[in-house]
Amino acid sequence: MYTNLRREFFPMPRCIGDKNAASRPSASLALVELCCSQSSEMAVYFRRLKQSRSLHGHTLVVETDSTMSGSPHVVIVGAGMGGATCAYYLRKELPGVTVTVLEARDRVGGRTKDITFWGSTVNMGAALFNTEQRNIAALAKELNLKIHCFKRSGDFPDNTIWDGREIVQTGKLLSIEPEADAKMRQSLKEFLSALEATYQKYDNGTFRSIPEFLAAGGLEAYTRQSVEEFFCDTPVSKRVQKYVIETVMREFFGQGLESSVALAMICLAGVYQDAFKTEGGMSQLVKTLIESSGCNLHLNSSVSLVRKMEDQFEVWYSQREAEPKLKISADTIVIASPLEWAGIEFEGFIPAIVQPKREWERVYMYVSKVAAKSIRKSYFKGVSLSPDNPSCIYTTSDASQPWVALRSRDSSEGYNSYSIFHSEDIAEEGFLDQLFEGVRDFKSERWDYVHPVCPPVRGSDGYQSIILADGLYYLNGLESVASQMEIAVVSGRNIARLISKEL
Ligand SMILES: Cc1cc2nc3c(=O)[nH]c(=O)nc-3n(C[C@H](O)[C@H](O)[C@H](O)COP(=O)(O)OP(=O)(O)OC[C@H]3O[C@@H](n4cnc5c(N)ncnc54)[C@H](O)[C@@H]3O)c2cc1C
Repeated sequence: MYTNLRREFFPMPRCIGDKNAASRPSASLALVELCCSQSSEMAVYFRRLKQSRSLHGHTLVVETDSTMSGSPHVVIVGAGMGGATCAYYLRKELPGVTVTVLEARDRVGGRTKDITFWGSTVNMGAALFNTEQRNIAALAKELNLKIHCFKRSGDFPDNTIWDGREIVQTGKLLSIEPEADAKMRQSLKEFLSALEATYQKYDNGTFRSIPEFLAAGGLEAYTRQSVEEFFCDTPVSKRVQKYVIETVMREFFGQGLESSVALAMICLAGVYQDAFKTEGGMSQLVKTLIESSGCNLHLNSSVSLVRKMEDQFEVWYSQREAEPKLKISADTIVIASPLEWAGIEFEGFIPAIVQPKREWERVYMYVSKVAAKSIRKSYFKGVSLSPDNPSCIYTTSDASQPWVALRSRDSSEGYNSYSIFHSEDIAEEGFLDQLFEGVRDFKSERWDYVHPVCPPVRGSDGYQSIILADGLYYLNGLESVASQMEIAVVSGRNIARLISKEL
């Protein structure tokens, strides 16, 4: 216990992977409170105690040097793309402010995670961004990260769809229904100009609510209708909706045609346009943002309580179950994780609508990488695959399959590397050998949460708030428009600017 407590007392590391950080002087402005049942023993370890603010019961309050500096302290909960972007822009907008990031996991990145598999870097979470996602692209360029482009032809890719009975080729389907292709392109063009108008408004500005953001360039029209409603009475037939649009929506957002049409537009942008990723995967961008922000980063630090005090907040977190709870004081807090999953309680105030509580889609929760000789043709009940080795196979919602999408990646030493998005633990079910021949290697990531369900929102009160209380901001409400890295970047930058106006 002593070892753990003593380590907490020392100044906090300033950035990831910095093994010597704990022994260096820190500009941290943390006010750390350690709850302990043996306060007299602990006192030995806290000779550097500067102030004991409330020795109620067995609680010691330790103020480190930076609280003495008097500069404002912002605590960000969560080191995903959103939290990292917010930390980065806070440094740009408010260089004098101290920023502490508390992250529950033992790594930064959140829903971006890159690993080495079969000789290549592969993504287990967020993978790509598109041409119209210009804010994430600008950020990556600003940080001198190499960006790789995956060229698209501009046509809808000829995807192979398995509905449990037949194989449908989207290229063939669209060649029979060319008006559907034209209508989708036209709708996408209009959506992208609404998106661009929104971006232009907020290139330098701020928004205080999601309805305000959506109204700026006309995006709200796309969040009020479902895909089915939007394409009703258009040349985009039910068959095209099911095989062409819904399959991609299931892969990108884990949901279908009943969702807001904004999601379908983002998917169409994803398939008609060029796609990009940063070298080493998208988690590199998060790491670089955190490093460049100069924040104090605490990994394995799970926040459970935000308490409002007279003129500050207390943020309570634990580093491990067995350890005592730690407290850090903050002038401003940014919650950069979906509240439905963050497990944070609020005390001393009622935060502005955290409701409506969102549902989270469970169409897929696993992302796996498989190295195998080939896809087993017999899996498709005697229906022949076309082409023989498709680069991408989707399933439909009525196919009763435990997987949503299967992509063929690189090949080496006679084996192919596949990515598969699935809803069940396929390794345990012996499913891998049914779908693949000659399985050589397998790695899987189980995600507790992937994307929120995004139904059409007809009124203006259907979204969560960005400002939960004076000095308390929430980044992930905007995910109800679309859950994407770009949205996390836009939201993180917006909150940094809102804070810079108010501090
Ligand atoms: C499998 C998958 C594929 C995806 N593919 C793409 C894609 O190709 N392109 C794209 O643009 N988007 C994609 N996304 C979506 C994208 O990853 C997310 O929208 C985006 O990364 C969200 O970032 P965030 O920082 O808002 O949230 P998160 O990444 O979820 O970060 C939140 C962080 O907060 C931490 N946290 C939670 N609770 C606490 C607590 N109490 N205390 C401390 N820390 C806490 C979490 O550990 C986490 O690190 C994908 C997502 C998944 C899961």
